[in-house]
Amino acid sequence: MTPAFEHLQQQLKQLPGVGYRSAERIALSLLVEKPERLPALVKALEGAARSVRRCSRCGNLAEAELCPLCADERRDRSLVCVVEQVPDLVALERSGAYRGVYHVLHGKLSPIHGVAPEDLNFSTLFTRFAAGEVKELILALSNDVEGEATCHYLTSQLPADQAVAISRIGFGLPSGGGVLYADSVTLKSALDGRRTYS
Ligand SMILES: [Zn+2]
Repeated sequence: MTPAFEHLQQQLKQLPGVGYRSAERIALSLLVEKPERLPALVKALEGAARSVRRCSRCGNLAEAELCPLCADERRDRSLVCVVEQVPDLVALERSGAYRGVYHVLHGKLSPIHGVAPEDLNFSTLFTRFAAGEVKELILALSNDVEGEATCHYLTSQLPADQAVAISRIGFGLPSGGGVLYADSVTLKSALDGRRTYS
């Protein structure tokens, strides 16, 4: 194969869920079988790279300063659901059971994998607390040791002088599984049945 083909294949192989064979198949499709698709894909990639960023308030995907959820006046800003990743937020939104806003940490604490507090999106959450707009915090983090450590760290850093109700969901979810793997009905009952975290 040519150097350009191999370079493209290498880049594709870095994508989640794409192995060597799939990368080869996609590269062949784009360059040989359906080259007419390539300009639109290049345009979409360039457009996304240019316009998609993190919401300055919650860490969700945004194309402006705030994501559509943070910018939506109908959402209850006093209620903040903390999730690990954007797909967790998407799963909770799909359940239709939640009308508050979110905070995306972009991971969970893990000493084994070298993930420390400064690697996660905690600082903007503490800024939201300092602004006094948060009245209830829902921790929708994994039901595993790392998720628990993240909950513990987060709550230990909150200002003691603010009355914030803290609850945890995930008790109805599969052990070790995150929000992402639960169906809408499970997520709705997990939200309804959230328990006070202490
Ligand atoms: Zn946002």
